[in-house]
Amino acid sequence: MPDRFKAILISRDEEKNQSVETVEIGDADLMDGDVTVAVEATTVNYKDGLAITGKAPVVRRFPLVPGIDFAGTVIQSGHPDWKEDDRVVLNGWGVGETHYGAYAGHARVKGEWLVPLPESMTPRQAMAVGTAGYTAMLCIMALERHGITPARGPVVVTGASGGVGSVAISILSKLGYHVVASTGRTAEEAYLRDLGAAEIIAREELSGPAKPLGKERWAGGVDAVGSQTLANVLSMTSYGGAVAACGLAQGMDLPGSVAPFILRGVSLLGIDSVMAPKSIRMEAWRRIASDLDHAKLAALSTTIGFDGIVQAAHDIVDGKVRGRIVVEMA
Ligand code: NDP
Repeated sequence: MPDRFKAILISRDEEKNQSVETVEIGDADLMDGDVTVAVEATTVNYKDGLAITGKAPVVRRFPLVPGIDFAGTVIQSGHPDWKEDDRVVLNGWGVGETHYGAYAGHARVKGEWLVPLPESMTPRQAMAVGTAGYTAMLCIMALERHGITPARGPVVVTGASGGVGSVAISILSKLGYHVVASTGRTAEEAYLRDLGAAEIIAREELSGPAKPLGKERWAGGVDAVGSQTLANVLSMTSYGGAVAACGLAQGMDLPGSVAPFILRGVSLLGIDSVMAPKSIRMEAWRRIASDLDHAKLAALSTTIGFDGIVQAAHDIVDGKVRGRIVVEMA
């Protein structure tokens, strides 16, 4: 096991200008925690893109090693649930925001933040899912809890060719849903149909100002986009339907009306992956292992090395990334 390893470090000067560099650190430089993990795979999520580019205040402590999720093997544990050689996954809990994160050879975290890597998955596959895919699963579980079965009607997925969208389409189609994929990249139609989308609609159909109520088009939705898109999705949700909202790719605002809620009994289901309780995480990862087709997971992911992380961070914020990125650590 190397004593020193590469890490990405985000720093800020006195004028609050952010800089990003690759440094070499050791275990003694890591933050407090009771489990140290050798990071085998990580990923670049939209939030990691925001952190590295500084486009949104994701990083709330400087300097910081970014990277909100990883999969790897325990190399040291003082936590009763974990021992050396256990394979684990971490998503969120402020890692890569306030606590040193995934973009280093080792990560030291609290044992309670970890979940076991599903036995049928490799660290690489877990990170092809990553926080985006785990969030897609949380959205689908929320729709199910609300009674949105395939028999209730179509489900729309916005931001379809992104990470949340690609995984949501793959899982929903395997579960038998009729999936309507909304994308700004119509050139990705074949990709989205291969993942399981039954219909493709142009992003522009949903991204303009929303009417209070529109034609009822779907029973449910997984929305990674927010803003006017979410307002439109809600206005077109059929009576008693539900929309799981997890993202803000178009914006953080929600310029809509209460009409879908009070006239159609539509529900808006908020999804947070970062602080989700452990029982829900365990269930989500169990479901990912059983309900996500491995061939589709391979088709929606691209692999890069540690040195490609910073460029990928810029690309994801610029909307240039399709599906999911896996970072294989050396
Ligand atoms: P990606 O960048 O991979 O995907 C976002 C997709 O949204 C893009 O691929 C694009 O899809 C679409 N999009 C981008 N810009 C716009 C725009 N201006 N208007 C409409 N659509 C747009 O990100 P992820 O899938 O990883 O994450 C999606 C969102 O979910 C992010 O906002 C992220 O922060 C959030 N998120 C939230 C979590 C939570 O816990 N709540 C956890 C994980 C993610 P297309 O080209 O197909 O139109």
